[in-house]
Amino acid sequence: MAGASLGALRGIGPKVLERLAAQDIRELSDLWFFLPRGYEDRTQLTSAAGLRDGIPAQVLLTIQSAERVFRGRQQLLVEAADEHGDRVTLRFFHFNEAQRRSFREGARVLVYGAPRVRLLGRDFVHPAYRLLGDHEQVVLGDRLLPVYPELEGAGPGTVRGWVEQALKKLPTGEELELLPAHISRALQLPTLREALLFVHHPPVGTDVHSIKDGLHPAQQRLAFEELLAHHLSLRRQRLSQQSKKAPVLNDSRLAEQLLQQLPYQLTGAQQRVLGEISNDLSGDTPMLRLLQGDVGSGKTIVAALSALFAVAKGRQVAVMAPTELLAEQHLRNFSQWLKPMGIKVEWLAGKITGRKREQALQRIANGEAQVVVGTHALMQEGVEFANLALVIVDEQHRFGVHQRLALRDKGSTDQYTAHQLVMTATPIPRTLAMTAYADLDVSSIDELPPGRTPVRTVVLPDTRRDELTQRLIDACAQGRQAYWVCTLIEESDEIEAQAAEAAYAELQKQAPGLRIGLVHGRMKPAEKQAVMQGFKDHQLDVLVATTVIEVGVDVPNASLMVIENAERLGLAQLHQLRGRVGRGSAVSDCVLMFRAPLSAMAKQRLQVMRETNDGFVIARQDLELRGPGEILGTRQTGLAGFRFADLMRDADLLPVVQQVAQQLMADDAPVVDRLLQRWIGSSLRYAQA
Ligand code: ADP
Ligand code: MG
Repeated sequence: MAGASLGALRGIGPKVLERLAAQDIRELSDLWFFLPRGYEDRTQLTSAAGLRDGIPAQVLLTIQSAERVFRGRQQLLVEAADEHGDRVTLRFFHFNEAQRRSFREGARVLVYGAPRVRLLGRDFVHPAYRLLGDHEQVVLGDRLLPVYPELEGAGPGTVRGWVEQALKKLPTGEELELLPAHISRALQLPTLREALLFVHHPPVGTDVHSIKDGLHPAQQRLAFEELLAHHLSLRRQRLSQQSKKAPVLNDSRLAEQLLQQLPYQLTGAQQRVLGEISNDLSGDTPMLRLLQGDVGSGKTIVAALSALFAVAKGRQVAVMAPTELLAEQHLRNFSQWLKPMGIKVEWLAGKITGRKREQALQRIANGEAQVVVGTHALMQEGVEFANLALVIVDEQHRFGVHQRLALRDKGSTDQYTAHQLVMTATPIPRTLAMTAYADLDVSSIDELPPGRTPVRTVVLPDTRRDELTQRLIDACAQGRQAYWVCTLIEESDEIEAQAAEAAYAELQKQAPGLRIGLVHGRMKPAEKQAVMQGFKDHQLDVLVATTVIEVGVDVPNASLMVIENAERLGLAQLHQLRGRVGRGSAVSDCVLMFRAPLSAMAKQRLQVMRETNDGFVIARQDLELRGPGEILGTRQTGLAGFRFADLMRDADLLPVVQQVAQQLMADDAPVVDRLLQRWIGSSLRYAQA
């Protein structure tokens, strides 16, 4: 079936083939698995009174008036009513005069879109619509229309047509089905063929909202298979890793030396996980371990101590973090601990270029650099280690699985591989961890260092900003330090930086007595570092920052945090940010500032933040709140690049996925191969490259 050709489809010539290939659509089967991201139900009419806020619907209306008005900006307002006389407004911001005139009084119009329903009325903004002729019968669609992800260079209708043609060539159930019959039967889910036909063509009468949630059995069937394939690929990775040997790192002398120099004792939890790690390291089976621990639980020192096991044997360690700021923080911590011991700590980030980079690469290649700290730059071509024995990856969820594996491969040959320690502050429930990190053993730091005082959190509308600024001035007068965090919906460094600059200017004007610093992602590393250091040394009272400070920043004297537009952030991100305070013994405060009106979801999120400081509780709530339907930011969920499955939504399937994976691994290698090929073919190629 893999051979069936795309080029045989109507409308797909050589040019189009090329363009599709660039978007990872190469074979007919890629179109079978090109799944709709939603559906339009134009099979029925809704009355105006039946419209619900934000829920797409189709209404038949008679036009009453169409006027050009100016409300802040030019718009076209079309007033209309359904057969019961209930009124609906259509609102257009882009329109021309001919369009305005086409909305004749008394004409009928068929409208489809997501309405806004408010106390004072209902409206559609830029809906899809069709004006009906005077005697034209209303003809409704006879099936739900799939809405596919956009493909470059093809309109939605064209894409629909291609998929439809491809589906005509869908093989029989038997040929398509990879799950052994006894397993499918036990699952009580449709066959793959049934599932595919259903998701591309849900029959009339299917509840669009239930499919939107992704919980229809047909969708669950697909999600199951994808999760299974992903899980199998990780298990295979683990097997192939563990068939190799790793260096035995059983010399604890340097680690003990550092322990003695620390101004504190490790917590019980830190000691326990360090024990688990050193136990792994002292064997010749490669360690594959996930270290999870809440924000501020002290993972960094555990990582540094682990690194010393490698250094003690004359081997190299790589420490990789997802952002430059976080990597810099590690560099400083590691240097501060290791340099006095005479250990050479090297820095490698994307911005290190030219001669400096060459020299760094040389020291890495000849083994002079003992601990190498950096960003993605560590994985790049041209970075060759002399004898890498341990790879430490922080905030793993920000990287893809494959990126982690790429770094590990820097320390691998056919028979030999480096140990891996992966750290995350985003605790996830156990079953989830077992699937998302199926190739890893898990250690948890479930205890915070002593003397921490829980952060008090308040939620405040931004209309009270002036009052808040005054409180900030008072707090700083008492020697406290504060973060002022600016957030934006758009993930653009540039726009976020602008917002931070504006907040910075505003604060300087309102509080001229305060020493205020600014740090954002568009600044040069040296500038950022200088500002951070100034804040750490208490030469600054307030640090205005973007969410670049979300991970890793550690200034114990900072005891106040203001987060602007907190309603825009997810729970995990809020928790990470808030974790920047409450690190010293002073009572800390976090002010979540929001702009009204709050959505129900945002309200609940802020409520959770106010009620608890516990990362595990927050993670669980996050899971419940986000639930189905909500589009998750890749920054927060990038556990794996699933096409269809959603680890949160499909958490119920995970225990079965694990069971079935076990069976297949044990007795059906060819099926495992085909599943991997089908679902992760292209990324597999990358991982093995
Ligand atoms: P995270 O797990 O978020 O990476 P860090 O490693 O940054 O946490 O540690 C947070 C803070 O706690 C740092 O200031 C660190 O020096 C301090 N710390 C770590 N372990 C202990 C401990 N056992 N006792 C006291 N303070 C500790
Ligand atoms: Mg950390």
